[in-house]
Amino acid sequence: MRITIYCPDINSYLENPKEFLPKEIKCLRDPAHKPHWHTGWWRFVTPDHVNKLSMPMFRLYCPDCKESISIWPEFILPYQPELIDTHELVVVENLNGKPIKEMAEELGYDPRSISRWIKRVLNQALFIAPRIIPKLLQYLACELLPFSSVLAPEVVKELLAWLYRYAELTLFPRLFRLMGLCNVLRNGDLIVWGGAVGRCRYSREIVDRSP
Ligand SMILES: [Zn+2]
Repeated sequence: MRITIYCPDINSYLENPKEFLPKEIKCLRDPAHKPHWHTGWWRFVTPDHVNKLSMPMFRLYCPDCKESISIWPEFILPYQPELIDTHELVVVENLNGKPIKEMAEELGYDPRSISRWIKRVLNQALFIAPRIIPKLLQYLACELLPFSSVLAPEVVKELLAWLYRYAELTLFPRLFRLMGLCNVLRNGDLIVWGGAVGRCRYSREIVDRSP
């Protein structure tokens, strides 16, 4: 299980991660369960596209479910060492017509990596949109959009436009990090824009991080 938490940026998180952890801990499956803090881990991130940092990650354990519940700040995705800002940046710029090669040079990445990120987002958009939009509509009280035969880039544009509107309405502080908002909206039950839950390849030594 996974819980996504708000956090303004990686520096605030690194300064005092415990400040952003949920105040009240509960199991996502059943509020009557009594999870407890469990051993955390360190995870690599590359906030500036070049240097690696390691950041502490936290988790709970639910003895009733016999399962851990990991806590993810919304600026980071499983499998990806880059911040979500980087992924969102390349997708938005690509939708605006910027060539992949140019972005790769600017960020210092192999164009194939950039291309992979964009493909992943486009592929997932078709899956995500119908699940995110109803959530947005609860807030906006509008009609449901049709998404039957549109292409992935069109869905991404639509989705980002809706998320932008939602972010404005809810005063979400980072209008340019809408994929993070998307993650928060799904309460961590989707690995939005990332891979499947459960196989984080960027973790290393386990340390005791009980808050
Ligand atoms: Zn449980």
